[in-house]
Amino acid sequence: MILIAHGGAGDRKPTGKALKKLSEALSSGYDLLKSGGTACDAVVNVITVLEDSGIFNAGRGGNLQLDGIRRLDASIMEGKDLRAGSVIGLEHLKNPIKAALMITGTPHVILTNKGAGRIAKGLGPLPKPDRKAIEKLERAKKKSRETVRLYEQHFSTVGAVALDETGDLAAGASTGGVSVMLPGRVGDTPVIGAGIYADNSLGAASCTGMGEAIIRIVLAKEICMQLATMTPARSARLSLNRILNIGGKAGVILINNKGQFSVSHNTKYMASGFIKGKKLLVKEAFQ
Ligand code: ASP
Repeated sequence: MILIAHGGAGDRKPTGKALKKLSEALSSGYDLLKSGGTACDAVVNVITVLEDSGIFNAGRGGNLQLDGIRRLDASIMEGKDLRAGSVIGLEHLKNPIKAALMITGTPHVILTNKGAGRIAKGLGPLPKPDRKAIEKLERAKKKSRETVRLYEQHFSTVGAVALDETGDLAAGASTGGVSVMLPGRVGDTPVIGAGIYADNSLGAASCTGMGEAIIRIVLAKEICMQLATMTPARSARLSLNRILNIGGKAGVILINNKGQFSVSHNTKYMASGFIKGKKLLVKEAFQ
């Protein structure tokens, strides 16, 4: 059993508070795995803790788009049967990852804001953005001439991948997007194959970074496909170099179906960690 989580990749040093919350989330998800929970249960559990914390760019901590509205994205995928669920542009629900999970119980894979809201009725409401979030947007707008430059300085998305006792894999992610974005912008996180992918015959990957570059490479599935002939570390490195070639910055957490795993990024930092047996390790970077 292995559980890996991240709280975004970027050029700003993660806070102690963020690392502590990642440890807490990993311990909570691993407890579930130990008591017979599935890889999917553990991934959703970890991401819910991170969404609820308000310290990451997900759930109630999610970034605002340029019109001052928070539109959240999330996705989940199970490696056993390639079941996937994804939500785009949620404006009113506190836990997009739980909404994504609910969509796996419908005939569909992706639902947007209102439709997803109908399926995920029982979930709590997303609190209104606080003053801090509004001030953050104002500062970002002022500082930003170039979206990409600004993005590199900011941590954001959260994600997790897991391998459970039965050998099933799962991957998930949740985000408020990037620091400066046009209203309606959607990144890689809810795009199955780009932001996340899981297939028991290969592995499970959850990506973070510049969504536009990740989508163009279709990063998560590419990295998983390469696992047929490569170690996780090598596969991730190869594809992160391809992302660099198109000017992208990203990070990925990855497990193959033999339980080998890696945390890789082409940014200075990636708040991330793993838990396996008695070993829990969370760091600001894994280079
Ligand atoms: N990939 C996310 C997006 O582009 C942002 C991030 O990972 O920080 O929406």
